[in-house]
Amino acid sequence: SDRMVLGPLVASIDQGTSSTRFLVFNAKTAELLSHHQVEIQQKFPKEGWVEQDPKEILKSVHECVERTCEKLQQLNIDIANIKAIGVSNQRETTVVWDKTTGEPLYNAIVWLDLRTQSTVERLLKRIPGKNKSFFKFRTGLPLSTYFSAVKLRWLLDNVEEIRQAVDDGRAMFGTIDSWLIWSLTGGKSGGVHCTDVTNASRTMLFNIHSLEWDPELCQFFDIPMEILPKVRSSSEIYGLMKSGALTGVPISGCLGDQSAALVGQMCFQDGQAKNTYGTGCFLLCNTGQKSVFSEHGLLTTIAYKLGRDKPVCYALEGSVAIAGAVVRWLRDNLGIVRTSQEVEKLAAEAGTSYGCYFVPAFSGLYAPYWEPSARGIICGLTQFTNKNHIAFAALEAVCFQTREILDAMNKDCGIPLSQLQVDGGMTNNKVLMQLQSDILCIPVVKPSMPETTALGAAMAAGAAEGVGIWSLNPGDLTAVTCERFEPQINPEESEYRYARWKKAVMKSMGWET
Ligand code: ADP
Repeated sequence: SDRMVLGPLVASIDQGTSSTRFLVFNAKTAELLSHHQVEIQQKFPKEGWVEQDPKEILKSVHECVERTCEKLQQLNIDIANIKAIGVSNQRETTVVWDKTTGEPLYNAIVWLDLRTQSTVERLLKRIPGKNKSFFKFRTGLPLSTYFSAVKLRWLLDNVEEIRQAVDDGRAMFGTIDSWLIWSLTGGKSGGVHCTDVTNASRTMLFNIHSLEWDPELCQFFDIPMEILPKVRSSSEIYGLMKSGALTGVPISGCLGDQSAALVGQMCFQDGQAKNTYGTGCFLLCNTGQKSVFSEHGLLTTIAYKLGRDKPVCYALEGSVAIAGAVVRWLRDNLGIVRTSQEVEKLAAEAGTSYGCYFVPAFSGLYAPYWEPSARGIICGLTQFTNKNHIAFAALEAVCFQTREILDAMNKDCGIPLSQLQVDGGMTNNKVLMQLQSDILCIPVVKPSMPETTALGAAMAAGAAEGVGIWSLNPGDLTAVTCERFEPQINPEESEYRYARWKKAVMKSMGWET
């Protein structure tokens, strides 16, 4: 049959907290040609615990790859044109597996999980002045339940099978990128055990200046260094796909999801920033080749290193634990919406929260507070409050949390952002986007191709030495058209609501002591 002539294609695996996707782009135009998505189950075995099955995640990747290839063939597109695959993944989520069987030794502990609160407290006692920020200049991070090192410590302390596997030299540790790359490049028969600098920078075991695992940190957390993956750049050939429709295609890009979105939004200049609204919400600002340390609760993280011989670039990051997850909670726990999309209609019907404030501190509060003792509250209720007001308050909470990290970012960077570039699953919600512009008092700009995370990983894969499709010169890609949302309420109104929000946040803190 006649095949369409498109030139090279690049693909990416986008393994997020709520779903896995596989997407294929035209490398010349960055146009999205086809994709497939599978939702991932989240397990909540105890209060505060969040787990996923690493085998289910791997299976979902295979399924997405195969289904996307079938769709391409139906479009008469030759899958042999797929020249490279990138990986973008939920960060920090921790997996330990047995390299002789290829089997995970425990469920993946998801980044949101809070079981390590007592581990953190125990570790803090060994730090002078119990200073959470003691390792800030080396790792960019405060000691928190969030990062992989404490999750790995918990696994070593609590799972006998893992302890045994470490003693026998059978254990491998990895974040989701490592687990996937190892499995896809052959697994127990010769899989490549690696990670990239962006993912490594979220473990708290990585020195973000020397770009190496830090022996002192490994000693502090008592982590055996032989179970750690080799750290590579974000754009180089790690290995080849060993099974399925894309056997033999190189995996040549790897970025944590938030770094991938920064690349996909073409934020290559110092001072450029993006905010991604998924399960959580993450605002990253590129600070170029210098690492900037925050005075206002932001993290210093690795933005990307796009090639073995390329410089490393850093970012300041404001992380919010709960964004889209609050909508999923309205759906799954309260049942006031049947789908996440429906929340837009409810909020639009209300048009106001009617003085109701919802602080969704389900996993404590991340930036700028880093307060694990916070718990969720809904306050300001009256006889008049209904589910529409609560839906509105849930969306407004996402906007207020973003305002808090944007304020911190502006203070740390000195030059206030004049507009906000956005992406992620929640940005399909126009009510939310308008509300965000109103709360920030600046325009919110959304690219017309919203899959920026996947695009960023595909770009890194295409640009790798030995693949060489993209030069990562933003000018090479056709200009992206955008949707803009301008502030529609006056700043006094916005300030008033923001001040009430802060009052509500104060009430959420110190709940769980
Ligand atoms: P992740 O990368 O964390 O898996 P996504 O970017 O895929 O997240 O976004 C999914 C999240 O966004 C889910 O938590 C879902 O509840 C929320 N979401 C998706 N669509 C909407 C919508 N139209 N309105 C509000 N929330 C939404």
